[in-house]
Amino acid sequence: LDPNAERLTPTEREIERVLRPQEFDDFTGQAKILENLKIFVKAAKNRGEALDHVLLHGPPGLGKTTLSHIIANEMGTGIKITSGPVLDKPGDLAGLLTSLSEGDILFIDEIHRLSPLVEEYLYSAMEDYKIDIMLETGPNARSVQISLSPFTLVGATTRSGLLTAPLRARFGINARLEYYDAKLLTSIVMRSSEILKTPTTEQGAYEIARRSRGTPRIANALLRRTRDFAQVKGNGNIDTEIARFALNALNVDEHGLDEMDNKILVTIIDKFKGGPVGLKTIATAVGEDEGTIEEVYEPYLIQEGYLMRTSRGREATELAYKHLNRLHHSKGNT
Ligand code: ADP
Repeated sequence: LDPNAERLTPTEREIERVLRPQEFDDFTGQAKILENLKIFVKAAKNRGEALDHVLLHGPPGLGKTTLSHIIANEMGTGIKITSGPVLDKPGDLAGLLTSLSEGDILFIDEIHRLSPLVEEYLYSAMEDYKIDIMLETGPNARSVQISLSPFTLVGATTRSGLLTAPLRARFGINARLEYYDAKLLTSIVMRSSEILKTPTTEQGAYEIARRSRGTPRIANALLRRTRDFAQVKGNGNIDTEIARFALNALNVDEHGLDEMDNKILVTIIDKFKGGPVGLKTIATAVGEDEGTIEEVYEPYLIQEGYLMRTSRGREATELAYKHLNRLHHSKGNT
């Protein structure tokens, strides 16, 4: 149930590929973003130019990689995929850039994690499709400038706040993906269950959808786990009953919060009197990486009203107390 692509197993990756929408019209939700992208793609195609560079931000599992594939499909171009932490030397980036054909997409996931050196190197590539490469080392070292085919960089980030201003400024198209509501996720689950050939009732799909933290990756993962329960404990079909059974067995609660969400809230309330408490302290107490809490868990808990971010740290809200059946001592304004 991990929303982080980084931690998926090869089988899970393969299933993601199968479930991935291929065209704008298969992609559910994010209507405003899609509407704009369709226009930009069409205009670029009409002019016979590469699409402007695109920056996609938002929590993991909301469809950034999927959208970049769709853009390539719709543009009729190729796509190369890499990520910030993987590109650690300018030479790696140069190799990739020179291998692109005209109009190709270069997708860089976690672009906020590029090293400053590689990032700087990217500027001229993005701006005028040129890079300088060093030939030889020592006294004979010299740099030559080479021209690249016009390409489109699609950058994805879970932490747009960490992007430097000069990099951000080089993206012509900027889109922030949002969590999906239960209705949109229901149609994503219905679509995926058809691909997986698992008969699913609308209500069964809704039960999975509303407990998926607003995230298609989680909805698909829960669907697959529910399918296992349906095959072993039921008749292979998914309805509300089997969905509830499976989700309870998986420790996904009524409100769709998972174990880590609840652990974070319980920790803040029971160990730190409801906060405010610093992120680092929470991370240590729950045994999860600080960045993951900030990028993955916190945004949803904040959106759903369980958590507040204040200047002095994180605070559990009254709703969190209620959710966990804890007594809330109002702090008042004394
Ligand atoms: P990200 O790159 O933002 O982490 P992905 O694009 O890898 O997320 O999406 C994760 C999974 O969720 C993929 O299997 C994809 O098929 C599915 N998915 C994401 N967004 C949508 C959507 N809008 N409609 C249908 N499936 C989606």
